[in-house]
Amino acid sequence: MENALIALKKYFGYDSFRPMQSEIIQSVYDGKDTIVLMPTGGGKSICFQIPALTLPGLTVVISPLIALMKDQVEGLVANGVPAAFINSSSDSRTVTKTEDDAVDGLLKILYVSPEKMVTQSFQTFLKRLKISLFAIDEAHCISAWGHDFRPEYTQLKILKMQYPNVPMMALTATADKLTRKDMLTQLSMQNPAVFISSFDRPNITLTVKPGQKRYEQIYDFLRKHPNQSGIIYCLSRRSCEELSNKLNEKGFKTEYYHAELPPPRRSKVQEDFINDRVPVICATIAFGMGIDKSNVRFVIHYNLPRNVEGYYQEIGRAGRDGLPSEALLFFSYADVMTYRDMINDSEGDIVQKELKIAKLNRMYEFAEAPVCRRKTVLAYFDEAYDQNCGNCDVCKNPPRYFEGTLAAQKALSAIKRTNEKIGMNMLVNILRGSRNREILDNKYDQIKTYGIGKEYSFDDWLYFIMQMLHTGLIEIAYDDNHRLRVTPVGEDVLFTGKKVQLAMPITPVNKEEKKKAAIAEVKPVGKVQGLRDELFERLRVLRRDIAQQSGIPPYQVFSDATLSEMCEKRPLADTDLLMVSGVGEKKLQQFGAAFIAEIRRFVLEKEDDGVKVSGSTFLMTYALYKKGVTLEQIAVQRNISPTTVLGHLCNMYERGEDLDLSPWISPEELDIIKGSLSLFEEPYIMKDIFEHFYQKYTFEKIRWAIADARRRP
Ligand code: ADP
Ligand code: ZN
Repeated sequence: MENALIALKKYFGYDSFRPMQSEIIQSVYDGKDTIVLMPTGGGKSICFQIPALTLPGLTVVISPLIALMKDQVEGLVANGVPAAFINSSSDSRTVTKTEDDAVDGLLKILYVSPEKMVTQSFQTFLKRLKISLFAIDEAHCISAWGHDFRPEYTQLKILKMQYPNVPMMALTATADKLTRKDMLTQLSMQNPAVFISSFDRPNITLTVKPGQKRYEQIYDFLRKHPNQSGIIYCLSRRSCEELSNKLNEKGFKTEYYHAELPPPRRSKVQEDFINDRVPVICATIAFGMGIDKSNVRFVIHYNLPRNVEGYYQEIGRAGRDGLPSEALLFFSYADVMTYRDMINDSEGDIVQKELKIAKLNRMYEFAEAPVCRRKTVLAYFDEAYDQNCGNCDVCKNPPRYFEGTLAAQKALSAIKRTNEKIGMNMLVNILRGSRNREILDNKYDQIKTYGIGKEYSFDDWLYFIMQMLHTGLIEIAYDDNHRLRVTPVGEDVLFTGKKVQLAMPITPVNKEEKKKAAIAEVKPVGKVQGLRDELFERLRVLRRDIAQQSGIPPYQVFSDATLSEMCEKRPLADTDLLMVSGVGEKKLQQFGAAFIAEIRRFVLEKEDDGVKVSGSTFLMTYALYKKGVTLEQIAVQRNISPTTVLGHLCNMYERGEDLDLSPWISPEELDIIKGSLSLFEEPYIMKDIFEHFYQKYTFEKIRWAIADARRRP
């Protein structure tokens, strides 16, 4: 495990493993077959990449999608890991070269598509290698139950027969119970070690809102999240296009994506998204599979997803880097009706349809129930979560209930008086006394309940009716134009006065409250945060430029999490930068100088503007010294003591700056003093060293020798 930790730091720049990663890696070291169930962003890749790097031989990774493979290999190469892929997009020369490299031991990780894996030629090639591990990524593709079934995956069983002694690892983020179970059977591993981590994604804020005025709500959201990457999922091809066009007209940069676009166009949109050229994509669910972009900051569902599995998979594309991210879902009953009709009209047997409808209902219940979202969703996946999360709309804004019996009675009575012939919208129109054509034609304006509910808005009424539906006061005749019917429980409310509690509408009702909420939302940005944001923006631009030059996506240069930590710590030298999580040796070497230079520029500019930034004082002194100003002059100019000036220079030297030490200390003296340091302990007490040499060397010389000893080789 010690080697595993060293490799983690060296290649990936991380200091420690996440929960379960080390146990999983140990399991491979023990030669066991291993199954890894972890949510997206949980850190699955490290689980096979670290064994690959630390075990003798080659790790073969089976991965279903070309885009995914390319992305992973690019990321690994950027970290200095010898990795390559072979799939249908590779030409024969590349394949030969890759195979030769593998045989020559120049590769540690080889990604391959399942189709390629099972070919005779590839199997022959494999025989020439020492294989450390087979990793099957997206292993749920083996199940015909899942939505991503890949028939070729089922043939992977032969690996276990041909290589009984090579450990195998299967990984997936699927939370769907049926698929998981089937996957385990299909893989037919011997006594595998199974690791299931929590499927909670605590960094994603879950919000559900009624779907009225979605456009406005989305404008508002995008305005509050400038420059951030996100996906807006829409139900239909048309709504993707419409939404994208509308947003563009409003000045937001978006593109649309759906399965009917020609393939070149689709890849262009995807590339533009990955490379941060277009921040927001309006897409059908065809978009996202095979995208590993770690800095997706939000996922919006313009329509209700068809089931909780889909919802969770889609929002899982946000925040892989672990930074705060948003999942915003709009729902309306109209979506439910549309899907229900689609399911009923579709081909397929009745059992399948019923299953789909049951899942749709669960999705709707999730959106509708005023219970902590995370609790509900995790319960759906059989995971106990017994607190309230504090990071969803319900937790942040718990519903307030009121005595709603009278309101419920008004609605129930209106349904009865129209002989249960009306749907939801008509019911609200009757209650609110609308004079639309249909009402007049049907003489609904003459019934007793007409216009008795004007005190609530249209949206409020919908919200109440939804709750009545949920608590079983009414039901919907799906097979009969979605007419509303009063249930026996509803009759109790209507005729015997059974009490009903209703939740107040989520959106503030009156202007006063709206204003208050708006003010509460605009949090003043503190000075420290302001500086960080400003630097982040500059580093983001730098990252984009570097990415463009190096031909890799920006998040492969450094993740948002790494940039964010840079803004917090403001590393001014290599040694500082290496302490930032996500900076490994290769990236330090490739990109370090550019980032440090930018951070230094930022710090100095701030100083010029009179803003105190920590770390700047060393840099100021150093900059003056580099310009040729003498130490004495620097001390006067900066109003600090000459000793402090010297201390600053030593500090910069320690951090790796190149300085000519000859004005202060000779190489021989340096060697002698450094040679004595092993007799002392950090933090060194200069006086002790001074006395050790019978006061022969000045404090200044001793300070330089210490700096030289601390300096990174
Ligand atoms: P998954 O494959 O499970 O979706 P990834 O392997 O892509 O997740 O990891 C998600 C993110 O977490 C990546 O940016 C990855 O570099 C980061 N990560 C993984 N393990 C660690 C760790 N031990 N410390 C810090 N970050 C990690
Ligand atoms: Zn919650």
